[in-house]
Amino acid sequence: MKRQILSEHMISVDSHSVAITVIRSSRARRVRITSRLGHRFQLVVPSRYPLKNIPVVLEKFTPWIIKRVRERMAYESDEFTPRLEPGGSIHFLGKQLTLRVIHDDDGLFSVQRDDDHLDITVPEDKVNHVPNLTLLWLRHQAEKEIPPRLMKWSLQLKKRVRNLRIKDQKSIWGSCSSQGGRGNLNLNWRLILLPEPVLDYIIIHELCHLSVPGHSPRFWKVVAEYCPEYNTHRKWLRENRWLLEFGRTLLHCHV
Ligand SMILES: [Zn+2]
Repeated sequence: MKRQILSEHMISVDSHSVAITVIRSSRARRVRITSRLGHRFQLVVPSRYPLKNIPVVLEKFTPWIIKRVRERMAYESDEFTPRLEPGGSIHFLGKQLTLRVIHDDDGLFSVQRDDDHLDITVPEDKVNHVPNLTLLWLRHQAEKEIPPRLMKWSLQLKKRVRNLRIKDQKSIWGSCSSQGGRGNLNLNWRLILLPEPVLDYIIIHELCHLSVPGHSPRFWKVVAEYCPEYNTHRKWLRENRWLLEFGRTLLHCHV
């Protein structure tokens, strides 16, 4: 057995239905709760965990769940919610860019940033391409922005990076592996959405893993040397975790 669904629960938070799935996992060492996109949560329990304890555990986690759901709702009602449509806005290095669509009679496509606007030029009958053009622009910006930052931090931390790949990761911001003292880093292109200090924190975090695997107190001590504010950034990432889903369905559409 790896993972088995034990039960599904619904709770109501400010008239929103919130689903909690209880999962038994042979890899889990202790009870933990994770939040997925939207209002879905997973409570993961180890294989031998007594079923009779589950209601108590659920109750214990309920205040935490309510807090997360409210945070998310507050964010969604904020005008900073990304919308990939004309007049909508996106995140870019923690700033808000409003999408401005310009029609072009010569059939040209282009995307250009103008301060706090993103100007997307499309032929009049191709406005449906705006979401994908915006995502392509963001991915391109990620390819441009992230490598020099990694270079800067790898010099500062004296870590050698053999390979950087900017990927479309599903549930993580970054990962790394080290072979023969040289690191391979994978970073999520969505890092380009985050405020610069948070983006730098993730780069530092992955670089520190090249010498200290795992999240031991020793690891955090090394991280703190280069990024003293790391706890603030971790909190920000927890609260904005749903950004990992940004553009997911659209990116797989064909233009
Ligand atoms: Zn880590």
